[in-house]
Amino acid sequence: MSRAVSRYNYAAQFGPALPAVMADVEQMLVDGRYILTAEVSAFEQAWGAYLGVKHVRGVNTGTDALILALLALGVGPGDEVVTQANTFYATVAAIRLVGATPVLVDADEETFLIDAARLEEVITPRTRVLMPVHLFGKPTPMGPILALAAKHGLAVVEDAAQAHGAKIAGKCVGAIGTVGCFSFHPSKNLAAAGDGGAVVTNDDRLAEALQQRRELGQCGQNHHVVLGLNSKLDAIQARILHYKLASLEAWNAQRRRLAEAYRERLADLPVSFQQVHAGEEHVFHLFQVRTDRRDDLLCALQAAGVDAIVRYPTPIHLQPAFADQGWRRGQFPIAERLADELLCLPMRPDLGSDAIDYVADRVRAFFHRDGR
Ligand SMILES: *Cc1c(COP(=O)(O)O)cnc(C)c1O
Repeated sequence: MSRAVSRYNYAAQFGPALPAVMADVEQMLVDGRYILTAEVSAFEQAWGAYLGVKHVRGVNTGTDALILALLALGVGPGDEVVTQANTFYATVAAIRLVGATPVLVDADEETFLIDAARLEEVITPRTRVLMPVHLFGKPTPMGPILALAAKHGLAVVEDAAQAHGAKIAGKCVGAIGTVGCFSFHPSKNLAAAGDGGAVVTNDDRLAEALQQRRELGQCGQNHHVVLGLNSKLDAIQARILHYKLASLEAWNAQRRRLAEAYRERLADLPVSFQQVHAGEEHVFHLFQVRTDRRDDLLCALQAAGVDAIVRYPTPIHLQPAFADQGWRRGQFPIAERLADELLCLPMRPDLGSDAIDYVADRVRAFFHRDGR
């Protein structure tokens, strides 16, 4: 018998407080409180307090957060930005969109994060920024990256779009490097009802540059001193995010418990998982299982009503959008293998243990059917 286990449940994210949120939104609609209102600064302040970072600027999307971070750092044509070959398209598109050159490093086989041991060999006199991605919600070990950045005089931009509240030794990612970038896309751990993003920093001068760059390069009204975007977090989204922020810690803790439950139930199967380290708080934006029979397992799960999905089937260096970079198949072999072998099982904080059991049973049935 098949039943559906979906990846998202937005009703559960609001719970019984939905009418109160709706009343606030209704009032904002009739008052015309839409752009850079008190709701936006209140959320920016709350997000900064949660992360332990001095400045937060709400922007349109996580992609804009990355673009604005690079613009504020003065990165442009001729500059190189180092990131990983296994990430979401936006990380690398942002580098290209400011006219800079992306330099890729392969993934680490166990953590699925950037292989820090290979970072130094790609640094050149043109390198300006190291851009690690806390992929799937696992915090990238930042010590070696910060040390390299200090040694070579580089900025560190954290792509924390999948890692709201992920911590290393109690410190939130995004607040560790020079600038941190977040997305509040509806799929993320902290989700707006539409697009949204934030860029965060402890640096006063950078915060000023970020502010100018998100608001049409303005310094005072109608005085435009630099090239800027028009990229501001919507006030209604800020209100919704502020409401949900109160639940983020509990949701992330629940995601960790569910991940542990999956791992226990799948422990004896020929699958592996993203490594978890002591002293870190992974927030399991995605829960990945790794198997060389990925495509068949995906079909079996989907046929059984399990909303499993592949993130991401094509690594960056093989995306048509980046054909002009001259990257080749075989150049980043671990990223290629992860693209072929990773599968996301449904992960959302309100999943019950019955749902975890159902998904795990379907995975077990797949591997036992042919005696492996
Ligand atoms: C979602 C995401 C982004 C982009 O965020 P948007 O809000 O969708 O623009 C950037 N990097 C990573 C790793 C992401 O997962």
